[in-house]
Amino acid sequence: MDRAHRILKSVFGYSEFRHHQADVIAALLAGRDVLALMPTGGGKSLCYQIPALLREGTGIVVSPLIALMQDQVDALKQLGIRAAFLNSALGAADQRHTEAALLAGDLDILYVAPERLLTERMLDLLDRAPVALFAIDEAHCVAQWGHDFRKDYRQLYVLHERYPTVPRIALTATADPRTQVEVIEQLKLQEAAVFIDSFDRPNIHYTLSEGQNGREQLWRFLERTHPRDAGIVYCLSRKKVEDIALWLQAKGRAALPYHAGLADETRRLNQQRFLREEGLIMVATVAFGMGIDKPDVRFVAHLNLPKSIEAYYQETGRAGRDGARASAWMVYGLQDVITLRQFVQRTDAAEQFKRIAHHKLEAMLGLCELISCRRQALLAYFGETLGEPCGNCDNCTETPQTWDGTLAAQKAISCVYRTGQRFGINYAVNVLIGKDDERIRHNRHDQLNIFGIGVEHSAAEWRGIFRQIIARGYLDVELEGHGALMLTDKCRPLLRGEATLALRKPSLPKERKEKSGSKVPTLGTGDKTLFDALRAVRLDLARDHGVPPYVIFHDTTLQEMARTRPADLEQMHHISGVGELKLKRYGLRFIEEIAKYPWKRD
Ligand code: ADP
Ligand code: ZN
Repeated sequence: MDRAHRILKSVFGYSEFRHHQADVIAALLAGRDVLALMPTGGGKSLCYQIPALLREGTGIVVSPLIALMQDQVDALKQLGIRAAFLNSALGAADQRHTEAALLAGDLDILYVAPERLLTERMLDLLDRAPVALFAIDEAHCVAQWGHDFRKDYRQLYVLHERYPTVPRIALTATADPRTQVEVIEQLKLQEAAVFIDSFDRPNIHYTLSEGQNGREQLWRFLERTHPRDAGIVYCLSRKKVEDIALWLQAKGRAALPYHAGLADETRRLNQQRFLREEGLIMVATVAFGMGIDKPDVRFVAHLNLPKSIEAYYQETGRAGRDGARASAWMVYGLQDVITLRQFVQRTDAAEQFKRIAHHKLEAMLGLCELISCRRQALLAYFGETLGEPCGNCDNCTETPQTWDGTLAAQKAISCVYRTGQRFGINYAVNVLIGKDDERIRHNRHDQLNIFGIGVEHSAAEWRGIFRQIIARGYLDVELEGHGALMLTDKCRPLLRGEATLALRKPSLPKERKEKSGSKVPTLGTGDKTLFDALRAVRLDLARDHGVPPYVIFHDTTLQEMARTRPADLEQMHHISGVGELKLKRYGLRFIEEIAKYPWKRD
């Protein structure tokens, strides 16, 4: 392990192992199989990269993310590691060259797509080449009912049978226990050492709100919190993706669309630009997803409700992999709830599957309507306990305003009941505010004593009240027809006056307060200027080398430089993320830039 520590500092420029990295590395060095579960950004790659450098032979990394292999290899080369990849994107000559290097033992790490690995040609090569270990990345792809299922992953147990003495490590950021069991069974990892880390992402600030006009709210959020940062905006439909991308462009932000309806070439190009340029916003459906390992995604915004907490956590997890401050921001509307429910209802899946899907959506809504710490609830959902409120979510930094909505809820529910549970929200609202409406008159609902008993709230306020009581399960929305409301069992105690109901006050999400409880350091204004200058230097270098900027240095590394202003190579070497090779290559260039900005206290 001493050697592992030395490599951590000299090659990667880090002084300490994180999470279970040291345990995982020790197990692999001892020749054991490993299953490692770590949150996104937790540092999974080091777990196999360091043993691959220390053990004899090449570390074979199985990954479904073909589009990213080139960047991953470039990043390793920047550290002085001998890396290569084999996938369908490679020409015949390059392929032969890489295969020869593998046989000669001249590679530290080789990335291979699963379908390629399983070919007889590749297995035959591996029979003859020295192999240090097999790393199976994104191991949850083996789970049949998961969202990223890959057929080829099911065959990977072959590695176990054919190379019983080569240690294997399976890695994933999927927290769900059912997936874990499937990974162990399918990959035959019964003997493996299992390491599970906390799934908390302390640097991510969560904001969830319900409301109309998500677009305007998004704009305010971007202007206030991320005026120049790169991020992802998720939408439910392709059309909305296109609209929002155009709208952001018209507002002067660099934004690109990404969805499954675009030509392959366009998608590839847009993804490439997102990785290589600074400050680009990707507006996307969930088709833009797994393996976006750009570490400096500063925000993930949702303009629609995700279908489950798992999906929400995975999507927001793409923010802030570098550990610097990042935002997960969402605004959703009632229409999302109805659309998602109808979507589940209309699939021809088994009843049991539909029930689970509904249940997951309800849990997601529960998170949205929560009045207490979001992170505590999120982690609890994944079976983890966080003792204290986090201090870094909207509910912690600005206590949500609530009001006693008991009477309003009673009125709303009675109205649904008295009108026969046959109408949707708009109808019920019109009855409550006593609107002169032809349909209401025709049904003689203007004769009911609940007609006009809700004039103390506006129609918009009533719609918000309905959203919340639906979200909390007091009313159901009929999914087959046109959204008629129906009472649930949960109504009874409320109607009898045995329970009260606190509702969230509708309020626009406010600017995030910087004095929040997050432990992630922020930059003063003077440091920010320098940070921007360092980013410009980084972009120049990245262009010269034809790599994404974060391959040169991460935001966190530049931020530390801006805060501590190293004046020589020795001081520079203390910065986290500055390994020996990068120190030699880029150290002076950044020191020169820093020297132009003398210390100034804010
Ligand atoms: P993931 O678990 O999502 O695959 P990565 O392996 O990409 O995470 O690591 C996330 C980031 O954290 C990378 O930029 C990596 O260099 C950095 N990192 C990993 N281990 C450490 C460490 N021990 N100290 C500091 N930074 C680390
Ligand atoms: Zn909190």
